[in-house]
Amino acid sequence: MTLMRFKALEIAQNRQPVKVETPSPKISDYYGSNVFGESAMRQHLSKEAIAAISDAKDKGTKIDRKMADIIAAGMKQWAMSKGATHYSHWFQPLTGATAEKHDAFFEPIDATSAMERFSGNALVQQEPDASSFPSGGLRNTFEARGYTAWDPSSPAFVIGKTLSIPTIFVSYTGEALDYKAPLLKSLHFMDTSATEVCKLFDTNINKVTASLGIEQEYFLVDEALYNARHDMILTGRTLVGYSSAKGQQLEDHYFGSIPDRVMAYMIDFETEALKLGIPLQTRHNEVAPGQFECAPMFEEVNLAVDHNQLLMDLMEKVARRHHFKVLMHEKPFDGINGSGKHNNWSLITNTGVNLLSPSSTPIDNQLFLTFFINVIKAVDDHADLLRASIASASNQHRLGANEAPPSIISIFIGSQLTKVLESFEKSTTDAGDSAAAAINVNKIPEILLDNTDRNRTSPFAFTGNKFEFRAVGSQQNSASPMIVLNTIMADRLTKFKAEVDDLIAKGNDKAEAINAVLRRYITESKRILFEGNGYGDEWVVEAEKRGLSNLKDVPDALKAYKSEKSKAVFANNNIMNEREIDARYEILLENFIKKIQIESRVLGDIANTSIIPAAISFQHKLTESASAMKDFGLSEDNYQVAIDAIKEASEYINTIKTSVYKMVEERKTANAMDSHEDCARAYSNNVKAYFDIIREASDKLERIVEDTLWPLPKYRELLFVK
Ligand code: ADP
Ligand code: MG
Repeated sequence: MTLMRFKALEIAQNRQPVKVETPSPKISDYYGSNVFGESAMRQHLSKEAIAAISDAKDKGTKIDRKMADIIAAGMKQWAMSKGATHYSHWFQPLTGATAEKHDAFFEPIDATSAMERFSGNALVQQEPDASSFPSGGLRNTFEARGYTAWDPSSPAFVIGKTLSIPTIFVSYTGEALDYKAPLLKSLHFMDTSATEVCKLFDTNINKVTASLGIEQEYFLVDEALYNARHDMILTGRTLVGYSSAKGQQLEDHYFGSIPDRVMAYMIDFETEALKLGIPLQTRHNEVAPGQFECAPMFEEVNLAVDHNQLLMDLMEKVARRHHFKVLMHEKPFDGINGSGKHNNWSLITNTGVNLLSPSSTPIDNQLFLTFFINVIKAVDDHADLLRASIASASNQHRLGANEAPPSIISIFIGSQLTKVLESFEKSTTDAGDSAAAAINVNKIPEILLDNTDRNRTSPFAFTGNKFEFRAVGSQQNSASPMIVLNTIMADRLTKFKAEVDDLIAKGNDKAEAINAVLRRYITESKRILFEGNGYGDEWVVEAEKRGLSNLKDVPDALKAYKSEKSKAVFANNNIMNEREIDARYEILLENFIKKIQIESRVLGDIANTSIIPAAISFQHKLTESASAMKDFGLSEDNYQVAIDAIKEASEYINTIKTSVYKMVEERKTANAMDSHEDCARAYSNNVKAYFDIIREASDKLERIVEDTLWPLPKYRELLFVK
């Protein structure tokens, strides 16, 4: 019998690129064609209906039921013209994935006739059977109801034969059970508080939009090889596997030419994405072999998050056509780079000003510095919360381990801005000084926009006209860090405005008042600024000296959600109440426990049923050959190698056997614990501790066991997709 590994290898080696056709050579011909956007609305809705949607979007006004009926009718007409037969509320429960439940437009009238219907009620609100989504105790089973409610700020779209309507997901009592509801609140808060601050500079500014561009990293492996490894199938990553002799050390993959099969796949999913209005612009190879990246043009945060969630779904679906499996896991392979989701974020006014873009005139620079320094202060004040927002079992492999970005939150701003802040902090506001003199920066060189000053080891880097939060995990919902970032920034801006107003009320000049507060913020928060190597051991020591936290473990990192300070920043600004925060914390902990539990069980399983048997077969072969040699009359030194290998294998087999046994015992102990916190800690400290031991022994076996007996596709076979 041939091992599945070899069958899979043969299949993978014979794969050819799938032929892909795009609807037109010009992307602009089909971009957004499956979206109920402006042009579709103009065709299917009255002026009043369009105005109602845009008021709901811009001002948060409610759409009444009558108007909802009109909009629903137009939407249905459009969707049916695109071939849709069903509609679905599309939402983002705290599982991290997206959820949908399809209902048909069709309704029978009698036994032989029917009609297609879609009411305003069905558009605006639905009650999915929500009892099996995580609720962290917010929804007792007796009130198991959860509601989805239409988010008019993210346009509906047709995917397959379904009209999908982006919605929030809340409990019967109105508490958020998803990511979108608090995200929308945080964005509204961001708008109002940033606008207030902008008015200090320019009264024409009446809206500030947070923007987000998400770079998405991922791995591709051949589907046949993937299916031969049930660790990948069940956990999304390899739990064992000896590193390939050639990994990423030659750095020949990064920005290299894209293999044909991969290119066909990219074009295919990009086409689907573009039809859905996801503005994908960039594709390239990443650092690790088998690793790639795509990135859209930035959009308003809520839309960017929806689009990223949708994109991940599409990428998985389209991969099937190409016999690929796309790995969104943060660390599918040990010893080579993991994947992130770089969140590029900035703030843009209704007058078209990017508030995080330095300019060459002093007065505009004061506006820039105001926002720039407020970000630094906000991140310093709530670094732990930001860290918590990206904590997960899978992202821990990047953040806690010796890989960037580190679990210490710091900010990189580049050498020029470092100098600007230094001189700004030192300068004094003598009476009569103009704003320009007080800032002491007449000109921030344009070169900043050139993007030359980069630091790839920083978790939170300023990149010329935006901040890039690079520590976000590749499979996470970006809403989680965005809720935190926007909330802490908006909260800071509100406080900033109050402090400035206070100084003005005491008779200070406006520009001086602004500078005085900013100067103090620099002093208070500059410890978070770090320009050096974020991977280095020296940084760990230095960060500790500076009082920055370094929370490597998920249970420790998540605790930040429970602090008084964090609860206050959410609750005082009506982003989430205490019950909602507690529920989220519980869900995240539980999710962590389950992930480690599954990994542990899969690892035990593979060890017992694949690895040990392979090693024993190997030993058996060696024993047979040694005894044949002996029978043949050869002396022991002729088969000493075989004897040594048998002994060496036994050593590893025993290590695996006893470690799996102990790991299972630790699991039992952990499972018996009453509190999630204790259980999570036990999984993190006691259960997970065996992963490396088992892996090391298994990887050593992989190095000595005859290649033809090894059951699992090896790293060298998985990594180099052609
Ligand atoms: P890189 O970081 O690889 O140099 P880019 O500069 O092209 O990449 O930008 C990466 C992402 O940042 C893209 O999605 C881009 O649209 C986004 N981006 C650019 N400007 C802004 C901005 N003002 N706000 C938010 N995202 C932005
Ligand atoms: Mg980038």
